[in-house]
Amino acid sequence: MIHSFDALILGGGAAGLMCAIEAGRRGRRVAVLEHADRLGKKILISGGGRCNFTNLHCRPENFLSSNQHFAKSALARYTPQDFIALVEKYGIPYHEKTLGQLFCDRSARDILGMLETECQDAGVSIFLGTKIQQVERPREFAVRSANAEFRAPALVVATGGLSIPKIGATSFGYDLARQFGLAIRDPWPGLVPLTLSAEDCSRYCDLAGVSAEVIASCDGQQFREKMLITHRGLSGPAILQISSYWKKPYPILIDLAPRGEVTAAFRDPATPRNLNTLRPELRKFLPHRVSDRWLDAHAPTSWTNQALTDLEKQIHAWTISPAGTEGYEKAEVTAGGVDTDELSAKTMECRRVPGLFFIGEVVDVTGHLGGFNFQWAWASGAAAGRAL
Ligand SMILES: Cc1cc2nc3c(=O)[nH]c(=O)nc-3n(C[C@H](O)[C@H](O)[C@H](O)COP(=O)(O)OP(=O)(O)OC[C@H]3O[C@@H](n4cnc5c(N)ncnc54)[C@H](O)[C@@H]3O)c2cc1C
Repeated sequence: MIHSFDALILGGGAAGLMCAIEAGRRGRRVAVLEHADRLGKKILISGGGRCNFTNLHCRPENFLSSNQHFAKSALARYTPQDFIALVEKYGIPYHEKTLGQLFCDRSARDILGMLETECQDAGVSIFLGTKIQQVERPREFAVRSANAEFRAPALVVATGGLSIPKIGATSFGYDLARQFGLAIRDPWPGLVPLTLSAEDCSRYCDLAGVSAEVIASCDGQQFREKMLITHRGLSGPAILQISSYWKKPYPILIDLAPRGEVTAAFRDPATPRNLNTLRPELRKFLPHRVSDRWLDAHAPTSWTNQALTDLEKQIHAWTISPAGTEGYEKAEVTAGGVDTDELSAKTMECRRVPGLFFIGEVVDVTGHLGGFNFQWAWASGAAAGRAL
């Protein structure tokens, strides 16, 4: 059986649904083809089930891409305020958790329900359980699944990245881009916990569950947030953020005491210079167990002014070389993707293949932690939806 539409959208996640809504509202006959048994599974597990759906302070600097300018146009034309207006139209209760991050008060189901209702109102056709076997373009696009064929002059690829394969992530978007001869920036797992070497793990990992505010930095970027010790390494927002910029074998630097100077007390000649005095000083900045464990491994070898200056430096720039990451199984996003040079920044349409669009996470634009990835999904989806 052949189904004909004005546009086919592959993938019923955040970007695909927003694109379908925008195009449907403009009177386009749109179909969303989703291989899972329901839409928006990632929306449902996002933000710990409460969906951090946008960020009030969304700026181009909150995104990684080989082209830092690419995302600007779409982000400017569909802003956090646009999405908030939609959320408020539905009376969905939400709150700012921290740093501009907006979460649902109740559940991520509110956001998915809103998008599903909007799709319905915009007359969007949804095909679930539709595993795409082949895409061809004799004249218009022909998309084949096991038991149907779909045709349209426009095809939007919104199949996301490689993160969390167990809920349906596939390499489909990258494979399709290659089929049409488009360049891909090699993908890597982003917003992902880091693993430590066996030596570092034996030193710290039994402290799993303990967290501290730090500044994590690498590759010219830094994030001041919580770091969490895990059974295999390091996690928490500061580490997830910096992981997107980290590449093996480079180290990351961690400022363990961003609030101040640990060795200040030793400027007083009356302060005895020994570990018994240093321990409580560092404990003012870090949870006691982390502080003591770190000092066991980094105790000064002498107590000269120079040795104390060196120790202070080390505390503010603890250099640690992760063994790796927890990979796509645990990564919140996939960085890299379809090269932005291939796409129009205004419409997300391929320059070399008119009618073919890429939106959302499959594109080489990756947000920081904090609602930025959904904002990119909404903005890029809206950009393409308005161009269909
Ligand atoms: C645990 C977790 C929590 C997160 N929390 C947040 C958060 O709170 N805030 C935030 O901003 N970001 C968050 N993210 C990131 C965010 O979910 C993604 O960046 C966003 O969902 C990307 O949207 P997308 O539409 O491009 O891709 P997706 O949402 O991944 O949607 C892609 C869709 O395509 C379908 N698909 C894949 N292959 C095929 C195929 N071959 N045929 C048909 N369909 C296919 C998939 O089943 C899926 O439904 C989180 C991610 C994870 C993993």
